[in-house]
Amino acid sequence: MICADVHNHTIASHGLATVSEMFAAAQAHNLAWYGFSEHSPLPPGYSCPLYKGDLAVTFPAYAAEVMALREQTASPAGGHAGGLAGGKAGSPRVLMGMELDWLPVNMPWMRDVIGHYPFDYIIGGLHFVGEVPVGSPRFWGAEVERAERFARYNAYYDLMRELAASGMVDVVAHPDFIKVCCYDDFQAWLGLPGSTDRIAAVLEAMRATDTAMEVSSAGLRKPFHEPYPGPAIMRLAADLGLTISFGSDAHNTDDTGSHFAELAAYAAAYGFSRSRICVGRERLELNF
Ligand SMILES: [Zn+2]
Ligand SMILES: [Zn+2]
Repeated sequence: MICADVHNHTIASHGLATVSEMFAAAQAHNLAWYGFSEHSPLPPGYSCPLYKGDLAVTFPAYAAEVMALREQTASPAGGHAGGLAGGKAGSPRVLMGMELDWLPVNMPWMRDVIGHYPFDYIIGGLHFVGEVPVGSPRFWGAEVERAERFARYNAYYDLMRELAASGMVDVVAHPDFIKVCCYDDFQAWLGLPGSTDRIAAVLEAMRATDTAMEVSSAGLRKPFHEPYPGPAIMRLAADLGLTISFGSDAHNTDDTGSHFAELAAYAAAYGFSRSRICVGRERLELNF
């Protein structure tokens, strides 16, 4: 059983629920650990059409709320042992992470945003390839030719290799999120000679920096019903002995801990039996 969901969002970005509503959902799911990992504020020149407000404005109040809840759920008075002990099922201990947008054109901004709060962990998320927000259907219309799509996949994994090699993050998020608007083309690209090597280079960089690979149930909520990452990448990750981290990437209460039984069975099928969480950026392995 997966007892930690460490990838979650709130109304501070484009989620639909508040910090306390998301926490209540985590309690209802019998989790022992619950991590908030709101998107990082974007640097000047970038904007996400999905975000309701400006994260630079909403983040401080959000972070204060999460830190208060973290303190409350970690204290012995709350029935927990403190230190690195988790909460009891149904009474999760809260962690504060952040999903950092990997934008290597602005390294100082990334360093600054990571250092701004006492995060338990940082998840590196790749949502932009150059100017293209990869999760936006508008950018994957019929006018985008196959050669251009394949070039984007190549560029996506080259960027992800940099992200993994940076050692700046604890987890690389949804390692094939780019399939979200173009599943069939992505599968075709995966079958090309060279694609596997390109992905293997990313996973080897994760291993070299001891960065965990996220296994996310968000893809199970899409029409293609396949976790991030899909089977080919899971096989490579298992062969390399990578560490994994589970998350739902929930943006609403219903998706908190969603499909975790299916997700656990999926990871177990590749031989995984433990997942990682980070407390104060200290790494901890949990059985599932
Ligand atoms: Zn989001
Ligand atoms: Zn996310």
